Amino acid sequence: MKRKSGQNPEITKNWKPATLAIRGGTARTEYGETSEALFLSSGYCYDRAEDAAARFAGEQQGMTYSRLQNPTVEMLEQRIALLEGAEACRATATGMAAMTAALLCQLSAGDHVVAAKAAFGSCRWLVDTLLPKFGIATTTIDGSDVAAWEAAAQPNTKVFFFETPANPTMDVVDIAAVCAIARARGITTVVDNAFASPALQRPMEFGADVVAYSATKMMDGQGRVLAGAICGSRDWIDNVLLPFHRNTGPTLSAFNAWVVLKGLETLDLRIRRQSENALKVAQFLETRLPKVLYPGLESHPQHALAMQQMDAAGPIFSLYVGGGRAEAHGLLNALELVDISNNIGDSRSLMTHPASTTHFGMAEEARLEVGITEDMLRLNVGLEDPDDVIADFDQALKTIGR
Ligand SMILES: *Cc1c(COP(=O)(O)O)cnc(C)c1O
Repeated sequence: MKRKSGQNPEITKNWKPATLAIRGGTARTEYGETSEALFLSSGYCYDRAEDAAARFAGEQQGMTYSRLQNPTVEMLEQRIALLEGAEACRATATGMAAMTAALLCQLSAGDHVVAAKAAFGSCRWLVDTLLPKFGIATTTIDGSDVAAWEAAAQPNTKVFFFETPANPTMDVVDIAAVCAIARARGITTVVDNAFASPALQRPMEFGADVVAYSATKMMDGQGRVLAGAICGSRDWIDNVLLPFHRNTGPTLSAFNAWVVLKGLETLDLRIRRQSENALKVAQFLETRLPKVLYPGLESHPQHALAMQQMDAAGPIFSLYVGGGRAEAHGLLNALELVDISNNIGDSRSLMTHPASTTHFGMAEEARLEVGITEDMLRLNVGLEDPDDVIADFDQALKTIGR
C-alpha cells in the first residue's frame, strides 16, 4: 500500500490543489483502507527496548507518544502543508493554540511585536495583554497602511503579526509589501489566514514566513470540531516551533484531525460556492443598507488588492444597518433562516453582533477605532441557495424599516 502514498514527494510534487486536498498526506495501513485510518492511541509499543531508545534518540523513525506524533494527525499536517506550499506543518487543538504557539515559541522578554489593530478578539488579547505580561512589547497599527509597518519597526522587533481579510472589519493587508519590509529587517511574519484558507490565499507565495490557521473555520467547514495549524519552513517548524509544541502540548486530537481531513476534501468546492453566494447576498444588502464591507465588492476600498491576493473573496463580510444595537439585534432576531451564531466558515449562514459577542472583551474605544460599531453585524454566508438567504434578509430588513 506504499505505492499510492500521498506522502511521497516524488508523486505529490506534480499534483494540483484539488488532488492534494483529497490525497495529500494519505498513508495507508496494510488493510488498504480507502479513507484515512483514525488512530485513537495515546502511546506506541516497541519490539525491543533498544528500539525505544533509538526512537527517543531520534535515530529511528516512528511514533513515541501522541502528544508528539500520531499517524492521523500527521496525515492532516502533511495535507495542509501541501495545500499551503509549505515545507512543514504542525497541527494544534484550536486556532488560538496555533496563534499562541506561533508567537510564544519565537519570542523572549525584551522583544517587540508589531500587529495589525483589526484582528480576531483573542488575537488582540494575545498582543495587548499576554505578550506584555512576559516583557514582550507590542505596537498595534492600521495594518492596511503599509508605511505604518515600516514606521513601527524597532531594532528589537522580532515579529509582524496580521490577518487578512481581518475579523470583522474586512481590512486587507498587502501581504507582499509588508513581508518585504519584514524580510529586509530580519523580522518573521506570522499571517493568520483563517478567513481565506489555502484554497483562496497562500501568503507564502507573497513572502510570509509562518502561516497559522483556525482549522475550525473553513477547513472543517461544517461546524463540527475545533482545530488549528501552523505552517513554516522545515527548519523553523523543527527548531523553533517543535521544542515549544512538544513540551507545552497544544496537540490536536486524532479524532478532530480525521474530521478536518474529511473537511479538506471539499474545501475548494465549498469556499468557491460560498464566495459566489456571499457576493450575491452582499450585492443585495448593499442596495438596502448604508454600508457593506466585503472585499469582493467594488465598493470595498481595497477591492483591487484583495483580488490580487485572493482567488475569491470568501464567505464572510460585515454590514452596517444604521442606528445602534437595537436595530442590529432587531435584524438578528427577525431572521428565520440565518442563525444567530458567532462561528464562521460553516456551511450554514450565520450572523453575529461583534460588539456584544466576539469583540465584547475589547475596550469600547479600541472597538470604535477599528470600526466595530453598535450597528455592525458580521455574516458568514453558507451553502444554502443564496436566493433563500436573500429572501430571509428581505423580510427581516423590513421589520427594522430598511
Ligand atoms: C476563529 C479565529 C481564530 C481562533 O480560532 P479557534 O479555532 O476558535 O481557536 C483566530 N483567528 C481568526 C481570524 C479566527 O477567525
